[in-house]
Amino acid sequence: MSACLFCQIIKGKIPTKKVYEDGDILAFHDINPIAPVHVLIIPKKHISKLVDAKKEDIKVLGKIQIAAGKIAKKLGVGDGFRLLVANGAWAGQTIFHIHYHLVGGWKKKPKWMEA
Ligand code: AMP
Ligand code: ZN
Repeated sequence: MSACLFCQIIKGKIPTKKVYEDGDILAFHDINPIAPVHVLIIPKKHISKLVDAKKEDIKVLGKIQIAAGKIAKKLGVGDGFRLLVANGAWAGQTIFHIHYHLVGGWKKKPKWMEA
């Protein structure tokens, strides 16, 4: 999808700080981190949002979760991170190419975690 920012990143047309890449997925540091570690993990296939994912996407979405654990360990946050996905504008999704936020690295629980 040429109009999609993350598809442009996948094609290498927009530079990012890559953390992991294979044939199906790409992970890179978020440009505007909300945590000491903030990585985005995306499928190379353009899927707009979680509700648009199909049965054939199960494998790549599963692969993202396994990669998230490995990336978290590699970045030293294997013991404490969140994997978040926003679905739709009302949930704050701003880029309509599905992406998983891997966030962590806090030294103490952030305020929003204290219920
Ligand atoms: P969301 O609000 O869930 O759609 O998340 C989109 C994320 O993409 C935000 O956290 C942005 O900071 C991040 N982002 C936008 N442009 C870039 C970019 N060029 N490189 C890395 N991250 C980006
Ligand atoms: Zn895309």
